[in-house]
Formats: sequence, structure tokens, C-alpha cells
Amino acid sequence: MFEKVLIANRGEIALRVNRACKEMGIATVAIHSTADAEAMHVRLADESVCVGPPPAAQSYLNIPAIITACELTGADAIHPGYGFLSENARFAEIVQEHDLTFIGPNPEHIRLMGDKIAAKAAVKRLGIPTVPGSDGAVGSDEEASEIAKEIGFPVIVKAAAGGGGRGMKVARSAGELSMALSTARAEAKAAFGNDEVYLEKYLERPRHIEIQVIADSHGKVLHLGERDCSLQRRHQKVWEEAPSPALNPGERVRIGKIVTDALTELGYLGVGTVEFLYENGEFYFIEMNTRLQVEHPVTELITGIDLVREQIRIAAGAPLDGGQDDVTFAGHAIECRINAEHPFTFQPSPGKITDFHAPGGLGVRMDSAAFAGYRIPPYYDSLVGKLIVHGRNRNECLMRLRRALYELVVGGIDTTIPLFQELIKQPDIIDGDYNIHWLEHYLARRSLGQS
Ligand code: ADP
Repeated sequence: MFEKVLIANRGEIALRVNRACKEMGIATVAIHSTADAEAMHVRLADESVCVGPPPAAQSYLNIPAIITACELTGADAIHPGYGFLSENARFAEIVQEHDLTFIGPNPEHIRLMGDKIAAKAAVKRLGIPTVPGSDGAVGSDEEASEIAKEIGFPVIVKAAAGGGGRGMKVARSAGELSMALSTARAEAKAAFGNDEVYLEKYLERPRHIEIQVIADSHGKVLHLGERDCSLQRRHQKVWEEAPSPALNPGERVRIGKIVTDALTELGYLGVGTVEFLYENGEFYFIEMNTRLQVEHPVTELITGIDLVREQIRIAAGAPLDGGQDDVTFAGHAIECRINAEHPFTFQPSPGKITDFHAPGGLGVRMDSAAFAGYRIPPYYDSLVGKLIVHGRNRNECLMRLRRALYELVVGGIDTTIPLFQELIKQPDIIDGDYNIHWLEHYLARRSLGQS
């Protein structure tokens, strides 16, 4: 097992990794920018190294500084968290070239899944159902138009290098296609430095359902069920739950087997998430994330499996305990992403948190690096914390979430807490009857004063 792990991240996820390491008796090293010198992830780690100035490109993405930090502190492995360098195949290679362990998948699989066109073609070959669309990147507008006619409008133009919901544009008719192509290309070029795009059938009322997988270096691949992340704004997840209110146990077993068979054949290692759109009883692959997800706690609460601990054990060569039949699902869990944003305009709200009180009690988990007096720097993402609640069934979970949301206090800045306090009362949410467009429609009606 590792003696010392360097955590190449910040915020709540750096705390999350630190917690797993501590429980395994592993020493930890935090890295931080000058803006984060007083941050909680720095205070809770055994050691810390400043890796650069506030902009992430010069600190949390500064590979030479991070490798140097490992050498200075004698860390033998790096956990990348999510975001930042977690899906950078070159970083994973550099870590290995320095005789350090990258706690994550093999670089070749990170690279494969990072190119959404190559990923889609690969998983299709492995028997995973995909969204109908172009076979690869689209060239000219004329070619795109031919393909769109074949698959039928509406279509969605997506960036090959996509992520975070950027570089996606819907075209409802042939007339809208050329505009959608040029906007998606420009957005993709600006965000990822790569303007390659592809076409997919635009699904009108799908849910976003993703399967959590975990694979060891001895050829064993298990799935830990699904998460339903259909409540989204601008293609970004806002609320995640497990199990999905829309899936029955038979469908779970079926899609779980398709995914584990495919990843076994691929020789995948570590944790990963295979994301699908789900409509009329059918699953359509959209992408695979080769890292820990923000929403991993909902899976932990219903399975009792510590995903970060398993990541570390797998990276150290340990086998997974038990088989698929030993993975059991108990009760229901929901996560709310608490962001430093206005709850309805989503205007960012960095600044000083004057008061902070985390809810508690049975089945309540708050993953956050915030505290009273903490000043949220303007340089990074707006996540203040994640409130995750578990109940014996969905109804108990909703009731518990409702009371936990009233206990939670984050003062001094705007947060999305009031949005969740409102959502939890909506009949569609209570019934679990929503798809990926529900939240946008709700917010649009609300801004018109109709809700
Ligand atoms: P990203 O990598 O940017 O997150 P994804 O491919 O994972 O992009 O898609 C993010 C979200 O965009 C999905 O959860 C869904 O809401 C929407 N989306 C993506 N592809 C389609 C599609 N073919 N039809 C309808 N919505 C889609």
C-alpha cells in the first residue's frame, strides 16, 4: 500500500480524498495556489506545497510543479480528484514516467474516452448501444446536412473534445443546421482548441442515467448500479439520485451486464462512469468519464462502498472483494449541488461566507470545504458543497432532504439552497417524473411568474 498520497486538487474533493487516505493510514500532501493558502484542504492534509499563483493553469494544472511537490515530499502516488488533471492522459503518463502511481485508469483509456468520437466508435464495437448519428466527425455543411436528413431532425451538434456541456447546439430543421455547426465549432475551438464536431439525433424527452463501474487489475469489473442525473441546467447536473425513479431491477441488471462485459473486454482499470440517455425503455451511450464523479456519494450511500478507498486499493494492485452478487443496494440517496450562485439567475457569487452550519442527523452527509469566515476565491468553480441524503426509500429520503435543506446555513453569499427548497415541493419531483429538460422549463415558467 502507498505510504503517502499527493492530492492534486482543491475544495470538497480534496477533503474527500484526504478522508479516505486517513482512514487507510496513508499520509497526505495537499497542493495549493497562493489564493488557497488558508483553505481547508491545506489545513487537513499532513503536508502542503504551494504550486503557483491563483490561475489554475499556473497552479492546479502546473504539471512540473506537481511532480516536484511529489519529489520534495516523498509521495508515492497522486490522486487527481475530478476536473483539473483527472482526465489528462499525458499527465497520467508523466506520473508513471516518474515512477509514481497515478490513482486512475490507464492513460490509453483516458485518451480514448476523452475523444468522444473515438469513444463512441469503441463502445459500439464492444456492444454498448449508442445514439444514432454521424460515424465520426462531420466535414462540410453539405455532408452534415445529408447525415442530418438520414437520422432525421432535430439533431444535436456536439464537440469531439466536449465537456461541461460546452460546444453543443441543437438544430431543429435543415435551415438551422449551418448556424448550429458554426456556433458549436467556434465554441469548441475556444473551449478545447479543437473544432471537430459530430452529429447525433436529438432526443426530446430522455433521462440522463449513468452506470458506475469499478475494475481491478485482476480482470474483475463490477457495476454499482445507476445514478439519475436528469435534473440539469445548461447540460450541467444540479441534483442526482440513486436508484433512478425510472428504472426497474431487470433493466438495471441488463444495462449493468452490457457495461461490465464491454469494460472487461476493454481491460478497463479503476472507477469509471458510462453515461446514457434513456428514453422509451432504451439506453443510448453518450460518453464515458474515466474518473471519480462529483455525484459519486449517492452510490456510496446506497451500496456502502467507499469509492475513493477502492480507487486507492486498486491502484496499489489489490483485488476487489466479492463479486457482482455481493453488491447490494439499500434505500435511496439524493445529492444537491450547493453552488455560490444566485438560486434563480445563477449569477456567480464569490465572496466571504459569514455563517456556515452543516445539517446533520441520520442519513445526512455534507461534503464541503467551506467554513464561516472562508472567502470563496473567484478563480475556480462555484461548488460550495454537496448535500447528500439517504433514506430507506425515496419518500423518506425526500422528507429528510427537505429538513436538511432547512438546517443548512450558508450566509454572506448567494447560494442555490433556495432553488432546492423550492424543487423539493414540486409534484413532478416528488413523483420522480422529470427528464433532462424539466428544470430548464421550470426555470423559464418561473421567470415568467407562472409557477
Ligand atoms: P458533456 O461532456 O459536455 O457533459 P455529454 O455528452 O455528457 O456532454 O452531454 C451532456 C448533456 O447534454 C446530457 O446529459 C444531455 O442533457 C444533453 N445531451 C447530450 N447529447 C444529447 C442528445 N443526443 N439528445 C439530447 N440531449 C443530449
